[in-house]
Amino acid sequence: MSIETNLKNIIQTLPIGVGLVAVSKTKTNKSILEAYSTGHRVFGENKIQEMVQKWEILPKDIQWHMIGHVQRNKVKYMAQFVSLIHGVDSLKLLKEINKQAKKHNRVIDCLFQVHIAEEDTKFGLDKTELKDIIHSEEFQQLGNIKIVGLMGMATFTSDTSKVEREFKHLKSIFDTSKVSLPNISVLSMGMSGDYQIAIKEGSTMVRLGSSIFGTRNYS
Ligand SMILES: *Cc1c(COP(=O)(O)O)cnc(C)c1O
Repeated sequence: MSIETNLKNIIQTLPIGVGLVAVSKTKTNKSILEAYSTGHRVFGENKIQEMVQKWEILPKDIQWHMIGHVQRNKVKYMAQFVSLIHGVDSLKLLKEINKQAKKHNRVIDCLFQVHIAEEDTKFGLDKTELKDIIHSEEFQQLGNIKIVGLMGMATFTSDTSKVEREFKHLKSIFDTSKVSLPNISVLSMGMSGDYQIAIKEGSTMVRLGSSIFGTRNYS
């Protein structure tokens, strides 16, 4: 099926209040424009350089989300335009985002990435680290970033009850975090393989790549 058809079909099934990030990493500008032609404007990339190249060429009303791991020395390349950074996993990184946002007179929306999966390879903060950042004086002084929610990735497994448990865990951290961060509203969880479970567990933003664009070819 075409990208347009995939996208339209998925959007139809998403409950009201659940946003969609079309994950376009490794995909061509042509493919992105096909998705764009349906009216969709929110796209996600996991490499800053690739996102910058696409931003330079593609229509300027696209909202670019950085969903991958962010290296501090590359924040400067996206600070001018990035619309939401999903993978904030340290105060150091947040301070760099704040510094670069300030240069462009912007307030950049960010999500804290929380580690919920069993795998060691997935980045993110644990509950205590998250709490420590939120309660630090340094964090409260950052005027050019705005934490709008949390993001997490479940274990890549066919064990759906495990995935469900991990998403439930993230949702409970999200609810608890609202005490200190009353304005958070975004819970970014769910990918092509598990977004239906994520929505059931309270996701407000799913990040879908292969179910829209087809499988990726990294070669
Ligand atoms: C690639 C990626 C996705 C999309 O994955 P699909 O399985 O293709 O939907 C979502 N979130 C993150 C963080 C990713 O890196």
